[in-house]
Amino acid sequence: MAAALRIGVIGGSIAGCAAAVAGSRAGADVTVYERSGAELQDRGFGIVIPPPLHKELVGSGYLDADMPTAPVGTRVWLTREPGGRSARELARQPSPVTPCNWGLLWRSLRASAGSVRYLRGEPVTSVRADGAGRAVITSARGEEQYDVVVGADGHASATRQLLAPGLRPEPAPYLVWRGAIPLGALAGHPRELDLLRGAWVTLGFPGGHGIFYLIPGGPQDGDGSTGAGNRLLAYAIYGRPPEGAEPGPYVQELAREHFPAAWADIVARGGRRATACHPVADVQAPRVARPPLLLAGDAAGVTRPHTATGAVKALQDALCLERVLREGPDPATALERYADERTAAGARLVELGRRMGRALVEEVPDWPVMGQDEVDVWFRGVLAGTWHYLHEEPGEAAEPDAGPGATFAR
Ligand SMILES: Cc1cc2nc3c(=O)[nH]c(=O)nc-3n(C[C@H](O)[C@H](O)[C@H](O)COP(=O)(O)OP(=O)(O)OC[C@H]3O[C@@H](n4cnc5c(N)ncnc54)[C@H](O)[C@@H]3O)c2cc1C
Repeated sequence: MAAALRIGVIGGSIAGCAAAVAGSRAGADVTVYERSGAELQDRGFGIVIPPPLHKELVGSGYLDADMPTAPVGTRVWLTREPGGRSARELARQPSPVTPCNWGLLWRSLRASAGSVRYLRGEPVTSVRADGAGRAVITSARGEEQYDVVVGADGHASATRQLLAPGLRPEPAPYLVWRGAIPLGALAGHPRELDLLRGAWVTLGFPGGHGIFYLIPGGPQDGDGSTGAGNRLLAYAIYGRPPEGAEPGPYVQELAREHFPAAWADIVARGGRRATACHPVADVQAPRVARPPLLLAGDAAGVTRPHTATGAVKALQDALCLERVLREGPDPATALERYADERTAAGARLVELGRRMGRALVEEVPDWPVMGQDEVDVWFRGVLAGTWHYLHEEPGEAAEPDAGPGATFAR
């Protein structure tokens, strides 16, 4: 019997765990190297994925069917009433999404990768070719040889540098503030919470927008359960702090100045503890595999978060990896096929993210004068013919028959 293919994965987060599941489902012997010595589950906030992808991942054993999610079917566009402090609804659009808690998603993938060797607190210090078509990973444990090495080492990927030396993320001229607030802190806002139980909200303001949605809480949140009732309010607010402002705390000021009073209060209740402030940037490797190296998740490419597809792409990368490895006939051919599919998918998302960033932050429309028709026409123009899972045209199926490995933005 031939020896199993040996796969080394650098990074044990969403992309790394998903790639590990893919490799082991395709019969490979997988080792994951994760730099961090801590559990990863407290790192993240909300992650939205398309319902059909969630179904596919549960059906194929990547995600546990019991992993809590908070699905909703509608997107509501709001802005502040001109001259007032109340919210005005501009439009509603069909937009079925499956919001997840980053930590619970990671934990579920990690559990599905249970049988792989997962080396925690084990930074990879170098990767090199061995001259015989294989790669050698060096870490504090010494050197190990692999048939395939998956770089799943995130947005600042060192593995990407091996495939595209000198390629660096391009910064966008604005920031994102991300938060997750236990619902217990929002008891004074029953109307807003009612809205969020059935919809996710985009709140437009001069200079940017905010996204608000409910996600399942983890065991450390709310009532301590991970059941259906335990929720957090997740938000991502995009904008540009004025020169000289301290970026982190500025989000509170921005919300006070531009948001309807209730939504500004929601942001204030998160406080600083529940908020993170990140730069926004994008980058795409010109080709996401060169045997024996392959890139997955943010290591392969980072799109601006407006597309809500970074984790989605990492999960799609894994499904594609499993399929090409199964199809064979050899790892090098499989990796070339992966590169053909996934490079194009990543590049489309980067382009879409830039377009969305321009329209939703850099050159926002005059939100208060818009209504349903204006929002529909304007947003269709932003998508410019790209199918995207966050936007379902009336009468359209929830997802075109995309097939395995689809990009969810074509
Ligand atoms: C505001 C915001 C909102 C978002 N919303 C969504 C959304 O709704 N839907 C969605 O799909 N995506 C979303 N994303 C994107 C998503 O969060 C990321 O794309 C995804 O988490 C990336 O996962 P990853 O595993 O590729 O990278 P990371 O999570 O960055 O993991 C990389 C891992 O590699 C490890 N590592 C690095 N170097 C080494 C080394 N030398 N040796 C060993 N290990 C190493 C790191 O420790 C880390 O654990 C959002 C992002 C932001 C910022």
